[in-house]
Amino acid sequence: MPDEPRSPEYFKQLFTSAGKGKGGLYDFWVQQSYGKLNLDLSTVQGWYTLPYTRAQEQQKDRLTKWTDCAKNFQKKLWQLNPNGIIVIWNDVFDTYGASSYPLTLNGTQRNYMAVSLDREGWHPAIAAQEMGHGYGLGHSFAYPDMEYGDSWDSMSSWTSGWFFNPPDDPDFGIKGPGLIAPTRMWMGWITQDRIRECSTACGPAQVVGLDHPEVGGPLVIKIPGDGGAFYTIEYRTKEGWDQGMPGNSVVVHKVEPSGRSLLMPGWNAALWRAGESFQVDQLHIELGRLDGNSAWVCVNLPPCTGTF
Ligand SMILES: [Zn+2]
Repeated sequence: MPDEPRSPEYFKQLFTSAGKGKGGLYDFWVQQSYGKLNLDLSTVQGWYTLPYTRAQEQQKDRLTKWTDCAKNFQKKLWQLNPNGIIVIWNDVFDTYGASSYPLTLNGTQRNYMAVSLDREGWHPAIAAQEMGHGYGLGHSFAYPDMEYGDSWDSMSSWTSGWFFNPPDDPDFGIKGPGLIAPTRMWMGWITQDRIRECSTACGPAQVVGLDHPEVGGPLVIKIPGDGGAFYTIEYRTKEGWDQGMPGNSVVVHKVEPSGRSLLMPGWNAALWRAGESFQVDQLHIELGRLDGNSAWVCVNLPPCTGTF
């Protein structure tokens, strides 16, 4: 295997503003956050050689591996003063992300967002999840308790039984899906004015495509549940990061008081089409109409007729 299977320039395109508009991680975070998160200050430092053999490094735990790399150019790091460090390995080694790894530089210990990507993690689908861990996101679940069970969320990509069919980006490889509405709410990216609260029954209620904020109107419908839980209804369109969705689809989550989201009604949740209805706990949800930008949904209000 070549020592440097990809050039530093490739990683600049994949992770920094140099790749703006090219479908890499820069675009992912700007688009998912509606412009509230960007990688404008990120830089790529180039390849470094560790003073350890592969066998020595392989025996170490994740924190130590990441620390070995970070320490290897600590003078430069001290100058850059980053919030997070993405380590790239030139082999198949280990891929992970964490929001808070301690590192001591010049005698000062700080916690950093820590991401480690081996050769199998150099594409947007996996890098997005590991960076998501760096930003404090956990894996997502399907009801009742299936980790990695949300096929329509970047934080579940991409294990067996995965129903998302990830497209290949011509520049960077496998990409998608995007992040679910509960995550975008939790991060503060969906603001209150883009949330339609539906107390017990409502409809036909418009919800615009999660990646179509330009349409105006609610990006999510929020319905209170028992014990501090709530439900969200979002509309995902088969394009961009969601090209691998089987089709335009309404997606429902239950969000527990802890913040954990569950895909409803469960793993392999069907993709709902106009005129279909389904039951989620005590909610009866019926879809009135779907188009390229919006869905109209009725909650506890069958039949879903009226003005769309
Ligand atoms: Zn993960």
